[in-house]
Amino acid sequence: MRTEAGAGRERDDDTDPRRRIPPLDVVLRDPVVGPLAAELGRERARTVVVELQRRARSGDLDPGQVREVAAEQLAALVAARGPRPVINATGVVVHTNLGRAPLSEAARAALVDAAGYTDVELDLATGERGRRGGEVLDALRAAVPEAGDAMVVGNGAAALLLATTALAGGGEVVVSRGELVEIGDGFRLPDLIESGGARLHEVGTTNRTHLHDYEQALARVASSGHPGALLKVHPSNFWVDGFVSDVPVAPLAELARTHRLPLVVDNGSGLLEPDPALPDEPDARTALRDGAGLVTASGDKLLGGPQAGIILGDAELVGRLRRHPMARALRVDKLTLAALGATLRDRAATPTSVARRATAAGLRTRVERLARELSDAGITARPVPHEGRVGGGGAPGVPLPGWAVAVHEGLAARLRLGRPAVLARVRDGSCLVDPRCVPPEQDEVLLRAVLDAAGVDPDRR
Ligand SMILES: *Cc1c(COP(=O)(O)O)cnc(C)c1O
Repeated sequence: MRTEAGAGRERDDDTDPRRRIPPLDVVLRDPVVGPLAAELGRERARTVVVELQRRARSGDLDPGQVREVAAEQLAALVAARGPRPVINATGVVVHTNLGRAPLSEAARAALVDAAGYTDVELDLATGERGRRGGEVLDALRAAVPEAGDAMVVGNGAAALLLATTALAGGGEVVVSRGELVEIGDGFRLPDLIESGGARLHEVGTTNRTHLHDYEQALARVASSGHPGALLKVHPSNFWVDGFVSDVPVAPLAELARTHRLPLVVDNGSGLLEPDPALPDEPDARTALRDGAGLVTASGDKLLGGPQAGIILGDAELVGRLRRHPMARALRVDKLTLAALGATLRDRAATPTSVARRATAAGLRTRVERLARELSDAGITARPVPHEGRVGGGGAPGVPLPGWAVAVHEGLAARLRLGRPAVLARVRDGSCLVDPRCVPPEQDEVLLRAVLDAAGVDPDRR
């Protein structure tokens, strides 16, 4: 230190580049560095800047570049930090690339409560070991009284894998060719089911399957001496139009019963009861009432909860799934159980439910205000009718009438890279900002993000 100080004194004039090294607090208060440091955490940011100052002192970095390089490095660290919040301005309610369902306030609070020690497997009244996630299972059964028992696993795919493996592993699963779908990211239901050891027995054709197609197959499977099951899949990520026909649950259940084979219905979307707004979307209660043995579904599609696989149905069948060794590998953690429980306690309060029900009139009012504020700031913006979608998580073909603000197409990329990041739609040469999936109390945040993307300082408009 002494030599350094001495050396510093010797060349103590304005030409000493080390005098130009900006102090730590000045760098951390820089308008670009500051927000990044806040996002990353000040301790971590401090370490980065101190290292850059050291490099500048040793002549390895131009002191004039400390701020710029600090901003670059902090931005890279922030970007690599993992999932970042994104404002969904696409109008697509269950957006697969945005993590599907956003959680309700209650579910978020439940997650935080469950983050520490919890009574997930303890009965506080007796001090004895409790049924893991018992409250959630009770809530599921309360929502679906037709179910004799319920179970929760990691996701919808896990629910289907466990059901077909526990009921038909080593045997055959009879399923319509038109229902063997790819569920996204290259994963296909047939491969999933066969990976658990069940073989597929496909019946019918891609567009049409009749009851008699199932009859022969079921008779063979039932007399084979191996376990077997009948599977009906309701794909929630696409729909088929035109010359199509499939067999509803009730006659399939009747047929399965005749052959003493279980009927598993994979409903995907997670609707627990009929929803008048989505008349073509199947639900768990109706499927069980129509005679399905088990219904499987996702927790983070229309149900609006965390990623989870929900299994509902006949108590004896659920018991077989619960005792299967694979069940332990597919079980969910306390955080999922907590969030799912809170979601089930108030299903109308989920953001997916609120966004689905947002009216065109209400959206129009919000969009007009947004467009006015943007226009006042000198940005070209106009309200346009825009149809939202339920999304890949259910009722893929159902349009949701609404509104969006149309702004310059080039803003889409800048919105995506902003803080907070905003995902909008690009269509017909415009960037469409749809507030359907944005809680109204965040309209100001959305407005500021668009102003920012357009290069207008939100505080000086
Ligand atoms: C979404 C879906 C799945 C997969 O569920 P994940 O929760 O994504 O694992 C399986 N089957 C159907 C019919 C689906 O719609």
